[in-house]
Amino acid sequence: MHSITFANNPLDRASQLRSDQAWQQDAITSEKSRFMIFFEDRPLIKINADRPNEPEILWISHHQLAPLLTNNSRPLFLGLKDELPFYAVDLTGLNLDQILSHPSFATSKFIDARSIAPNLDNPSTGIIAQAKSNFEWNKNNIYCSKCAGVKLKTKDTGYKKFCEQCQSEYFPRVDPVVIMLPCHNNKCLLGRQKGFPPGMFSALAGFVEPGETIEDAVIREINEEVGLQSKNVSYKFTQPWPFPSSLMIGCTAEVDNPDYKVDEEEIVEAVWLTKEDLTKILVGKSEKRIWIPPPMAIAHQLIVHWMNNN
Ligand SMILES: [Zn+2]
Repeated sequence: MHSITFANNPLDRASQLRSDQAWQQDAITSEKSRFMIFFEDRPLIKINADRPNEPEILWISHHQLAPLLTNNSRPLFLGLKDELPFYAVDLTGLNLDQILSHPSFATSKFIDARSIAPNLDNPSTGIIAQAKSNFEWNKNNIYCSKCAGVKLKTKDTGYKKFCEQCQSEYFPRVDPVVIMLPCHNNKCLLGRQKGFPPGMFSALAGFVEPGETIEDAVIREINEEVGLQSKNVSYKFTQPWPFPSSLMIGCTAEVDNPDYKVDEEEIVEAVWLTKEDLTKILVGKSEKRIWIPPPMAIAHQLIVHWMNNN
């Protein structure tokens, strides 16, 4: 178990049950099942009055949920835990005031995933990532891309879409992104993107392109962004990033010649930092007034991992 936000989903996805319609019908109406609610990409979070700093996902029963279900509501099967079925339901389109007047939701709020994630326990963020990315994919894939105007049928509770006209099948997408630290002797390089707040530096990153390996993408992105030749790409860990559906692939790569040149398009500034520099940065004592993304970002975890191993 590591502390990467949006990772550590504790559910057994039990994907073989998604297409078992009889099983799903029973499970959706079973009082054993647990449902979490989404509204416009935001999960419903329970804030306990006596423990306001320990928010949690609000899980409700079918009995509690039933009054809010419409003919269009399709619970997404998240998986099993201790043999109990877990679902997420997207209530976007319903009247928000009506939803929130539901007695079971008295101490709950819809909060966007990015702001609530640092306060939730890690497994809950993994569940939110699974549901959020899936709902966004469902929302953005209504029509067949080959048959103009033909609506797709939802299958497997929301993990597949199907066109009855041309028989095409569509599956939720995941967009791989490499995020990496170029390393040279006892230093690693961080960069500043144009849009970053003043003083913030982070790992370099970019989308993996079709036909490219992770290693190719790391070497290409480092070269494009800071003009460095790198080698010996080493994979560290990944993070699902549900905005809407990236998979961040954390890596390091070795650099022989440290003379960088920023591309000015994406990266406006770069800096080689030692472990000592980064130690000061982490406690807010950097003379260079540099700071790095918070612990929920894989960039932070990658930097800390590099420090612990150098
Ligand atoms: Zn079609």
